[in-house]
Amino acid sequence: MPAQLIKGGEISKQIREEITKEIEELKEKHGVTPGLATILVGEDPGSKVYVGQKEKACNNLGIYSARSDLPEETSEADLLDLVNKLNDDPKIHGILVQLPLPKHIDAESVIYAINPDKDVDCFHPVNVGKLVIGTGRFLPCTPHGIMELLRRSNVTTEGKHVVIVGRSNIVGKPMINLMLQPPPGGNATVTLCHTGTKDLAAYTKTADILIVAVGHPKTITADMVKEGVVVIDVGVNRIGKTPEGKGILAGDVDFDSVQEKAAAITPVPGGVGPMTITMLMKNTLAAAKHAAAQ
Ligand code: NAP
Repeated sequence: MPAQLIKGGEISKQIREEITKEIEELKEKHGVTPGLATILVGEDPGSKVYVGQKEKACNNLGIYSARSDLPEETSEADLLDLVNKLNDDPKIHGILVQLPLPKHIDAESVIYAINPDKDVDCFHPVNVGKLVIGTGRFLPCTPHGIMELLRRSNVTTEGKHVVIVGRSNIVGKPMINLMLQPPPGGNATVTLCHTGTKDLAAYTKTADILIVAVGHPKTITADMVKEGVVVIDVGVNRIGKTPEGKGILAGDVDFDSVQEKAAAITPVPGGVGPMTITMLMKNTLAAAKHAAAQ
C-alpha cells in the first residue's frame, strides 16, 4: 500500500496561523512588532529567490521586514558594520545573512558578529552549544521543521531508531541533537551516516525513521529501507525542466519505489521545504517575545 504523505504545505499553513495569532497578541499586549532583517550580498539567483520568499512570508504574517541587498564587491568590514547596526536596532529581532557569501568574505566572522539573541538561523556557536545542551531558545529551522512535521503527523520518535544520512551543519548535525534530547525532545536512538559510512544500506535498513539530506537524487532506493519506515526527504535537486521551462525538483529518495514500502513519506516538493521558512518566522517571533520580556 502506498505510504501516507506527510504534507509540509498543510502543516506549515497550520503553524503560520498560530504564529499570526501570537504576533497579534504580542502587538496588542506589548506594542511590539517582530522584525526580521535579511542581508543578501551579490547576485546569486537562488539566494535572491530565498530572500524574496522570506520577505513575502514576513509580509503575510505581520512581521516587519528590512531587506538589505548589497553589491557583490561589498567588503567584509562594511558587512560587519551593517550587522552591528542591526544588532543595536530595537525594531529588529532577527538577523539573517543569506549564505553563501562571496569568497572574499569570511562567513564565520559574519555569523559570529550576529548577536546570539538575534541569530534566528541558529548558526552562532552560542546557539549551537545551547542546542547540544538542550537549552536553546532558537532551534535550527530545517531540523525543527522536521520535528514538527513528525509530531503533527502523529509519528512518535520516542524509543525509535532514527537514521540520518548527511552530516551538514545545517541539517544532519543539528538533527541528531534534536532527536537525542530527552523528552520533550526526540528521545530517540540515533545513527548518523555520511560518505565515510561503510555499507550505508546496512544502517538505513534498520531505521524506523529515516532522514535523508545528501543532495543527490535517488541515493535511497526501496532495497535500502524496511517495511513501515517513515521517510523524511530533505533533498532538493534540480533534475531538469518541463517543456514550459519550469524547473523539475526531486529529493534524495527514490520516491516512487520507496513509497511502496514506507508507512509515511514527505514528497519533494511540498514536504520539508515549506517548513524551513515557517520555522524562521517562528524564531523571529520567539526573539521578539524575548525582547518584549526584557
Ligand atoms: P551538504 O552540506 O552538501 O551535506 C551533504 C551531506 O551528505 C554530507 O555530510 C555528505 O557526507 C553526505 N553525503 C553525500 N552523499 C552521500 C552518500 N552517498 N552517502 C552518505 N552520505 C552522503 O548538504 P546540506 O546542506 O545538508 O543539504 C542536503 C540536501 O538538502 C540538498 O539537496 C539541499 O538542497 C537540501 N536542503 C533542503 C532544505 C529545505 O529547506 N528543504 C534545507 C537544507 C538543505 P560528507 O560529510 O562525508 O561529505
